[in-house]
Amino acid sequence: MRKIMTKEEWRRKRRFKRTVIKTLLILLIVTVLSGSGLLLTNYIVKHFISNNKGKDTITMTLSNSEPIKVEYLTPNPYSRPQKSLRRINGIVVHYTANPGSTAENNRNYFQGLAESQTIYASSHYIIGIEGEIIQCIPLTEISYASNDRNKDTVSIECCHLDETGKFSEETYESLVSLVAALCTEFDLDKKDIIRHYDVTGKLCPLYFVEHEDAWEIFKNDAMKEKLEY
Ligand SMILES: [Zn+2]
Repeated sequence: MRKIMTKEEWRRKRRFKRTVIKTLLILLIVTVLSGSGLLLTNYIVKHFISNNKGKDTITMTLSNSEPIKVEYLTPNPYSRPQKSLRRINGIVVHYTANPGSTAENNRNYFQGLAESQTIYASSHYIIGIEGEIIQCIPLTEISYASNDRNKDTVSIECCHLDETGKFSEETYESLVSLVAALCTEFDLDKKDIIRHYDVTGKLCPLYFVEHEDAWEIFKNDAMKEKLEY
């Protein structure tokens, strides 16, 4: 049998319903606002807030106990345009695609572009076959290495011995240490370590494109070393 409600009961029920609907609406608005607020904050941080504090280099000692050699290219439009790199959101790994060439050879090639004016190319760091590292561009300036990501990443070119593009043990170790140090300095994570391939689809660095498992191991090695800082 259906219970007949008094007017007062009916009003109370209606009030209760309205309160529930109002509360749900407020909750929905708060969720949407805080969600978009978070997205907006994230966007502003990633695009406008500098995280390199004017620091143009990092100091670290490599496993061969040598420091990073800082040999900046002389400013020129082809390899060191001196455009500012305000925020570092990632690290891009490359290979030279020039088997047997040394870090110094590659640094000189970038420097030579100032004269030859053939292409726009450079890299913040070059790691040699013996594990030596040369820094060519300050971390406060962009390099010409990673296309659309030049504006917010640090680039690392790695030398290699043969066509497979596999890095020597020394190159690999220095790459792990350098990436770990940069991740610590700029508060970057595993997802921020990328290959040139991930930006444009170019087969660079070849060995890590053809061996996804090795790429995954490399990133984990860098993260493990980051924790030790
Ligand atoms: Zn590349």
